[in-house]
Formats: sequence, C-alpha cells, structure tokens
Amino acid sequence: MTNPSPTPSVRRRRILVPYGTRPEIIKLAPVVRALRAVGHSVITVNTGQHSDAPMSGDLSLALGLETTITNVLTLDKSSRLGQIVSDALRIVSEHRPDLVLALGDTDTVPAYALAAKRSSLPFVHLEAGLRSFNQRSAEELNRKIGSASASLHFAPTERSRAFLRSEGVDDDRIRVVGNSVIDALLSTSLSPLGVEERFGVLVTAHRATNVDDPQRLSRFVGLVNDLASTIGPVTFPVHPRTAQRMAQFLPGVRFHDQVTLSPPLGYFSFIDQLRRSLLVVTDSGGLQEEASYFGVPLVVLRGSTSRWESVENGSVRLATLDDDQGAARAREAANLLTRDESLRTIATIPCPYGDGHTGEAVARYLGDPSLDQYLILEEPSFLNGEVPW
Ligand code: UDP
Repeated sequence: MTNPSPTPSVRRRRILVPYGTRPEIIKLAPVVRALRAVGHSVITVNTGQHSDAPMSGDLSLALGLETTITNVLTLDKSSRLGQIVSDALRIVSEHRPDLVLALGDTDTVPAYALAAKRSSLPFVHLEAGLRSFNQRSAEELNRKIGSASASLHFAPTERSRAFLRSEGVDDDRIRVVGNSVIDALLSTSLSPLGVEERFGVLVTAHRATNVDDPQRLSRFVGLVNDLASTIGPVTFPVHPRTAQRMAQFLPGVRFHDQVTLSPPLGYFSFIDQLRRSLLVVTDSGGLQEEASYFGVPLVVLRGSTSRWESVENGSVRLATLDDDQGAARAREAANLLTRDESLRTIATIPCPYGDGHTGEAVARYLGDPSLDQYLILEEPSFLNGEVPW
C-alpha cells in the first residue's frame, strides 16, 4: 500500500489590516471576509481618518467589517497624520502580526508601511501599482511609498503590474488579482441595467483641487446645473467637505430644480443610483471602477487619473475645472458620452478591474508557503565579498 501524498501545508497567517476611509472600508471588507474564511487571523484597525458616521462608522458595520481596534480621531488635518503614524507604530509593535496589509493611497499606507518596517515585519500592498503621474498628488506619493515598502504587491490589472515593473519591482513579488471593489459590487447583487432603463446623471466631488477654490467650485455648480438642463435629473450626494466649502464660498447658491442634493448615500443606495444613471461626473477614484462594472460612462473632473484602463477603452473622459474652457470640455464630454450610440457601445465593454474574486485570490496567495521567502524578512548576506551590482 502506498502512503497518500502529504497535503502541502497551507499557511494561516496573523494579518493586521488598517483602514480609515470610506473607500478602504468598501474595498477591504470583502478581503477581510475572504481571509477569515480560509482561516487567517485578521486584526482590523480603524485609524479614524474618516470619523463621521456616514463616511465610516455606519459603513463598516453595514459591510460586516468588525473593528478590533478603533482610534476615532477628532484632530485637525495637520496633526492627524502624525497621530496616525504614532498609533501605527504602537499598534504594530504591540500586536506583532505576521504581516501588515494595507490598501491603496491614503495616509494609512505610509503610516503602516513605516510601522511594519520599524518592527521588521513585511508590508503587503493591495491595489498596488496605480499611477496618476501627478507630482502634486499626495495620494501618488502614498502609492509610491507603498510600492517602495512592500514585500508583496497585489496589483489590480496588468497595467498596474507594468507600472510596478517599470519602477524596478521584481515580477516575482507581484500578483495580479483584480480590484476588490468588484467583490463588493457582487455582494450587493445589483446587476447592470440596459441603457433604456437608465436616466439622469450622478455627480460627486470632494477633491481639494475642485472644491477648495471658490472659482472652481462655482464652475462645478454651473456644470451641475447645465447637466440638469441638457441631460436630465441630477443626483448629487454631497461629501461633508464639499458641503462645508459650498456654505463657506457660495452661501445661498441656487441649483436647477432638477438637481437633488443629499448627504452621502449609504453604499447600497449609492450603487443602485449609479447603475440607474446615464452618466457619472466625479473626481472620485473608486467610482471609475464601479461605473465600469455597470457599463456607465464617466467624466473625471481631473487632468489625470490612475485608472487608465477606462480612458483607453473609451468609457472615461478627463476634464478639469481650471478655467471656463475646461468646464466647456466637461460639458462636451458629457454630451458625447450620453449619445445613444456611445451609451450602447460603452455598455458592452468588459470591466477591466476584476472578476469579483479578488479577496479569495489574496487569501489563497497569502496561504501559499512558497511566499514565505518574501514574507519572512531576513538580512541578506554578502559575507563572500560580492556586491549587488
Ligand atoms: N460612496 C458611497 N456613498 C456616496 C458616495 C460614494 O457609498 O454618497 C462610495 C462609492 O460607491 C465608492 C466610494 O464611496 O465605493 C468612493 O469613495 P470616495 O469618492 O470618497 O473615495 P475615492 O474612491 O476617490 O478614493
């Protein structure tokens, strides 16, 4: 009788997952669920970067992201970053996980990358390799710090893998797994609608470049009003920062009667509104991936994006609010993308951002013992006198 071949041992790792903002909660919830489902032990840390309920607290509960450690911060922006870093240093050294896993481009990424390294622990970057090539962007620096620190990079697309490789990241350390934003969408069970079932425009804006300048903010309001008169009813859930800036810069501002303003919507309602829209106009990053899943075209109110796949496939156009010509370009893009022919073509474009199984792929890869070579950090030995180059 032959012995049954031994089952390869699967690693069950202790993983510390910090998050602090709405998009991190949405994208990490399915990953944390998938990690736990295969037996990894996950410590979640809410850094408190978004401390208001609709942006963070309610959302993490709704998505089943139970928080192990919470640090609700009420500090102003300048002291908040320092506080996140000092919390990160303390939390990581107290818990000593097998690895720290952080997503995307918020301040959580550099803070926890630094903390992981200070404790000689591996840092793993999820949604790795996005690049906007915008030198003014704090998010771009956060992404690059993530890449410089990571022992393993979970990239959403082949393009993001290529960006990482072009910066010298070893291909063996990259896994293309899609973006877990699509996992989150699948979990809503909301499917794409036919073009004839859609109407109106969904609008959001919260980037400092658009809302912190009175002139740009007023061009934005002009654009929203024009969209209501040319395309149809506009739904505009107002980010807290934008609400504050409108009250400050444009008191008594009037909107077209076809514009519906509201506080931020719950995730499910927001996604339902998105799939019912003919067009999205936004400066948000994650919405570009979500709109793509529903085959809805989008105007990005920025001069650059980190989601080039949608620019390349024709479903996204870029426009800025820098001057009146920029705003005219945004109107033109909106009109072009909502022509019947464009709507129908874009509805058939496959979503380039993943298949909805990113969380499972991450959980499987992290269980693979062959990744120990990247996840157990050792000082290299050059005792034989060789030099690296
Ligand atoms: N979102 C939401 N309610 C809203 C607006 C947005 O739940 O009223 C969700 C949206 O589905 C997306 C995420 O918030 O997943 C985007 O967050 P945000 O625009 O703040 O961040 P970004 O993606 O630009 O980093």
